[in-house]
Amino acid sequence: MTIRRVGFIGLGIMGGPMAANLLAAGYELTVWNRTAAKAEPLAAAGARVAGSPAEVAAASELTFTCVTASADVEAVVLGRGGVIDGAAPGSIVVDCSTIAPATARKVHAQLAERGVAALDAPVSGGDVGAKAGTLAIMVGGDAETFERALPVLRAIGKTIVHVGPPGAGQVVKLCNQVAGGLNLLAMAEAISLCRRSGVDPAKMLEVVSAGAAGSWMLQHLGPRAVAGDFAPGFMVDLMQKDLGLVLDAAHETHTPLPGSALVRQLFEMLQARGRGRDGTQAIVEALALLAGETG
Ligand code: NAP
Repeated sequence: MTIRRVGFIGLGIMGGPMAANLLAAGYELTVWNRTAAKAEPLAAAGARVAGSPAEVAAASELTFTCVTASADVEAVVLGRGGVIDGAAPGSIVVDCSTIAPATARKVHAQLAERGVAALDAPVSGGDVGAKAGTLAIMVGGDAETFERALPVLRAIGKTIVHVGPPGAGQVVKLCNQVAGGLNLLAMAEAISLCRRSGVDPAKMLEVVSAGAAGSWMLQHLGPRAVAGDFAPGFMVDLMQKDLGLVLDAAHETHTPLPGSALVRQLFEMLQARGRGRDGTQAIVEALALLAGETG
């Protein structure tokens, strides 16, 4: 049966534009955000604002969550007044937050006890991809639930891959953060060398982005870093949350990840200077500090 009624919980940098795209795609949308003001633009565009996550779930055949960390997903899904209190048997919960694979599996199991299906569906593509509806979505869960949710996921993403059972989506997202973190460091080192050699880093980005060393980070975050625009996109604090999950998973599987550990330490420098709410492109400032610049 085609899903028409969709819910969205967590209207932050990612969730806000994802919800807007669902509305634009014609879904009947019910939303909730802890800080109510963030729901206002969506209400103005035609969404219904509910009083709790449970109310969102009760009104929806498929409910998205996109909140910060593992404990926050547990709170909005499994907590009092949470999704689990409102979701009807047969409905689907899709969590797009980046959280620990073990928490994703716990959420799946507890919802399953109520007859509610779940997918862990973390996303990649940043605020740019969230606005454009072109996110990459890595989905864990059973194949039948994936097929039912797929038409809805197409309203927010472009590359949508079922990667395995519950928790597998989060494992793949952690792999994404490994590659993303090291690409950020590569971007920052290229900018640092270029600038300190007296060459215009904007020119460097223009040409290097188009060649074999090109990356999403160089293309989208490089210009922001060079311009000194450190507004998030993706906050340093969130990247540190993710790199913490990465290093936990690395430890559990005895997988040496020296590059990811290094990137985590560089972001630690920024957090120590009170810059956790900057975008991750601020990694250039950590290198400037290492080079003896004041930053
Ligand atoms: P954000 O702008 O900080 O938004 C976080 C959202 O979660 C806000 O709506 C916040 O509500 C809500 N929230 C957090 N804790 C909550 C709790 N305990 N109860 C209820 N609501 C809670 O973060 P974001 O950048 O959108 O990131 C959201 C998730 O997507 C994170 O897991 C992040 O790792 C992941 N992600 C982000 C990006 C990116 O580029 N930004 C890319 C891929 C994945 P309030 O408004 O009340 O604070």
